[in-house]
Amino acid sequence: MKYIRDDLKDFTPYLVEKKKYDIRLDANESFLKYNNEILQKMCTALLKTDFNRYPDADASKVCNLYLDYLGIKDVSIIAGNGSDELIQIIANTFLNNNDKVMMLDPDFSMYGVYTKLAKGNIIKFPLDDNFNINVDTLINEINKNNVKILFLSTPNNPTGNITKQDDLLKIINNSNCIVVVDEAYVEFYGESIVNEINNYDNLIILRTLSKAVGLAAIRLGFLLTNNELYKQIYKAKPPFNVNSITQNLATVVLENKDIIQENINIILKEKEFLYSGLKKINDIKIYKSYSNFFLIECDNASYINNLLETNGIKVRYFGKGRLKNYLRINVGSREENISLLNVLSR
Ligand SMILES: *Cc1c(COP(=O)(O)O)cnc(C)c1O
Repeated sequence: MKYIRDDLKDFTPYLVEKKKYDIRLDANESFLKYNNEILQKMCTALLKTDFNRYPDADASKVCNLYLDYLGIKDVSIIAGNGSDELIQIIANTFLNNNDKVMMLDPDFSMYGVYTKLAKGNIIKFPLDDNFNINVDTLINEINKNNVKILFLSTPNNPTGNITKQDDLLKIINNSNCIVVVDEAYVEFYGESIVNEINNYDNLIILRTLSKAVGLAAIRLGFLLTNNELYKQIYKAKPPFNVNSITQNLATVVLENKDIIQENINIILKEKEFLYSGLKKINDIKIYKSYSNFFLIECDNASYINNLLETNGIKVRYFGKGRLKNYLRINVGSREENISLLNVLSR
């Protein structure tokens, strides 16, 4: 194919599982559906949508409601078509050709994809055997290599581990680069650093409604930062990037924010149930998780993955590299967790 960019000739797209499974525990989604009262309000919101008009270009209403939900003010916020889009917007804002971007290994693979699409070079920083960061080495590598952006998720996907707040602030303080802290799962952990935004000139925080809030279907994420970085990032934001339906449906949920915390509590309770079940299974190692999923280590990950698939259960199987012997399993409903545990104990 002669028209494709040279550097994308051998590029593999992010492949999403299309097969149907009875039980999906592979994408870290919430297993909870919203109740009828919320669904009714969503229908009303849908009917009121001006389908002939472009959406509010800045999604101002949901942005303000989200800041309310976080309990913060005086920070700048950008809504994205999922936080995925915001990762791409960040890469497009800051990267010249061949600029270096640091990510942890393992961490969320899309940091690498969007870096490459923006013609940057990714450098992977290996986590230690317990999936912790050697903070001084990381800072040293960042500054030595003239890294432009560091992306890191905490809690980390896929390890479920966290970077402690003082380590995080040390990294932000001492790295001569933009630091993007992706808090996609932070509600399950409880300690966010959103209050630190205006204390740093290089901090960007990403959040999403796809995980704890349970709205993966409508694609909505947020970028939080100081006003100076905001003005630069805004240059790379597509106008009208968040559609009106998403804005209107998310408004309903954010106007009823008590239900979000109730749902998180239900998920955390179910996480305990899954954990106690997993602990009883021989020959697997479970890593401590601050999130809504568990990373487990087992010698026969491929065999277990096949067995689960045959039983209609999809978990995340990595199949290669450092995570060859690992599976990532997110918390499901009680019935789903029981089905999973039944197959695993065989
Ligand atoms: C799921 C996930 C995202 C993507 O979230 P969307 O808002 O649905 O695009 C971002 N970062 C991490 C670490 C994730 O696991």
